[in-house]
Amino acid sequence: MTVQGLFSAKSSAAAHISAVPRIAIVGRGFSGMMMAIALMKTVRTPFHLQLFDPNSSVSGGQALSSARSSTILNTRVRDLSVSLGDTDDFNDWLCSNAEFRAAVPAAIPGFRQIFVPKEIFSDYVYQRFSEALAARKDITVQVCHEAVVAIRRSHGSRFLLESANPANPLFDTVILATGYGAREAQEPEPVTTPVRAQRLVARPHTVLLGSGIRVVDQLQQLRDAGYAGQVTIISKHGFLPQSHTPNSADPVFPAEALPEALPEIVRFIRAACREAENEGRSWQSVMNGLRKHARSLWQSLPAREKHQFNRHLRAIYDSHRNRLPEAMYARLKSELAGGSTVLCRGVAGRRGLSGIFFKPARSQVEELLHAERIFDCRCRAPDLTSPLIQTLVNAGLAVPDELSLGLAVNQRGQPCLENGTMVDDLFAVGPLGVGSLPDIDLVPEIVSQAYGAAERIGERFYPKSKAV
Ligand SMILES: Cc1cc2nc3c(=O)[nH]c(=O)nc-3n(C[C@H](O)[C@H](O)[C@H](O)COP(=O)(O)OP(=O)(O)OC[C@H]3O[C@@H](n4cnc5c(N)ncnc54)[C@H](O)[C@@H]3O)c2cc1C
Repeated sequence: MTVQGLFSAKSSAAAHISAVPRIAIVGRGFSGMMMAIALMKTVRTPFHLQLFDPNSSVSGGQALSSARSSTILNTRVRDLSVSLGDTDDFNDWLCSNAEFRAAVPAAIPGFRQIFVPKEIFSDYVYQRFSEALAARKDITVQVCHEAVVAIRRSHGSRFLLESANPANPLFDTVILATGYGAREAQEPEPVTTPVRAQRLVARPHTVLLGSGIRVVDQLQQLRDAGYAGQVTIISKHGFLPQSHTPNSADPVFPAEALPEALPEIVRFIRAACREAENEGRSWQSVMNGLRKHARSLWQSLPAREKHQFNRHLRAIYDSHRNRLPEAMYARLKSELAGGSTVLCRGVAGRRGLSGIFFKPARSQVEELLHAERIFDCRCRAPDLTSPLIQTLVNAGLAVPDELSLGLAVNQRGQPCLENGTMVDDLFAVGPLGVGSLPDIDLVPEIVSQAYGAAERIGERFYPKSKAV
């Protein structure tokens, strides 16, 4: 569900609420909307909330609602609750939805183990946002359709946000939830590049760049739309997503202390997976268990080993943590086995008139792959060179993490500076913290971070706050 202009009535109140604390959320993706829900449910005293995003709609997360309706989330319902302490909230929402129940009658007694389309998840998030807002007559929420281009300290510890609107007031707290960067309204996802094709191959040919879930999603969308041509997937490391298990893979992990050095850690995890398989459990259970240790493990690694992990192991880790629902995985396997889709390891280069240049792994020679269409399905990383992030870094309000994958943040998203101090009234939530907090690009981790940040905001500025 996408609603525009929902808050115009409330926003008129914004002019006379300068006495209450003012909070800005920059970005209305899932992280921004989740942060708004967490604030409304956690901070008990009145406040004014302003949500910035150049995309004009308000939904359960821009990227999620703009995804094609048929695309399936690769996380089970049981892991997608946006309610703190109530892991069944999404399942309950689905159970109370007569239309959904009628469409998926087999899922008895509940839907915890199934995978649902992104659009449904977006509707759920949006409904929880609307309910949280309706329950708070004491707050005001204003939606602004502008990108924020700079954030500066002003009037002591307050923040001035610069956007196309020159009249922006000051804020006491700012939450950056800019994820993978500005998303224009109706931006197609993923980006496709039409190429003027010379028909040098007998069969229509499409190239997909990347190796994550988005590649598989794109491939299956093409087939569902009737495309019968050849597909080539170009992936730097050549690891496609692995499969989920048919049933729940409850987390397990060895009780022994983890070794300290990266190679031993890898051996330890491999051995744990083998052992789990031998005992009739799955390696997926071990990967689920590993996620609970991932943060402390990552933080304990020296920078050199973090670099090593990033270069050699991240692609393998990603292919094992971001898994495909079994049916999608089976479809992918049969595509590859039948030869109508081919996976090529190598690096994609510049576009030519009739295709794309490509350097196969272990080769120094670039080849031209002829193709009518090229879809770029590679994961985007947070853009640290954006003017917004640059103003923060230049003002000493944030620093990149050791690997410059994102900003250095603590669990709650507060920027950690080089001298070891935290910036207290500024937060960077979601994928912006991906270099400091493994898996912070995933829904469960974003949910718990949002509540942690909201609690901190409540404690610091509104000491009598407690959860409602
Ligand atoms: C198609 C898809 C499938 C997914 N599947 C899963 C899944 O199965 N399981 C799971 O756990 N997670 C899933 N996710 C979640 C995903 O992994 C991301 O982590 C999540 O979408 C991050 O949301 P975000 O709001 O931080 O970033 P984004 O979605 O990138 O949103 C950032 C928002 O900030 C806005 N913005 C950027 N810069 C500015 C600026 N300067 N001023 C104002 N606004 C700005 C952008 O316009 C955008 O709307 C999926 C996401 C997508 C898109």
